[in-house]
Amino acid sequence: MQTDIPPRKANLAGFRESERIKTLDLPQDGRWASITQSIHAAMKAGHNADVRRACAEFLQSASAFYGVSDCSARVLAARPLRVREHWTSELFGDYTPETMLIRVWMRTAVRKEVTSFGTFLSTLCHEFCHHLDFQKFGFKDSWDTSGFYERAAVLYHYARGTPPKKLFWMPVVGERWRIDWQRTNRSA
Ligand SMILES: [Zn+2]
Repeated sequence: MQTDIPPRKANLAGFRESERIKTLDLPQDGRWASITQSIHAAMKAGHNADVRRACAEFLQSASAFYGVSDCSARVLAARPLRVREHWTSELFGDYTPETMLIRVWMRTAVRKEVTSFGTFLSTLCHEFCHHLDFQKFGFKDSWDTSGFYERAAVLYHYARGTPPKKLFWMPVVGERWRIDWQRTNRSA
């Protein structure tokens, strides 16, 4: 998990703004935990139709809470082989702003590894945060900035019902950052 390279001038202000916003409003009632538990149960049982239904329910409820247009999701058994270049670092999902469509897949294309529930839910939250970037924050583009990962993590832990973690970052080449998991997990 690395942040994107900062864009050229025209988009740099949006990128910096995305870095600055590190949190999201959340409902007070823990309303998504039961939905995500049913995603987990359906994955364990191998009932793909139920996984799809529960994902749609989660996205609908989240879109309503944030006051944004509904986005739809396609849950695919395996990752398509053709994935847009821009998203190749996204192992398990993508989001297309023009169609407001999220795709998540339960297996990688090549090695057929099964996605764990944690990875699957984290991907769903990650892609939903791209939706929020366009629809709630009004960004012209959506980048994986450090702030973006913070927002996605806030949503993920809340939706899963696990305590949030403080993320620690370390710089990598090319003005990019990655999460320092050792420090992050040690402090949790
Ligand atoms: Zn992303």
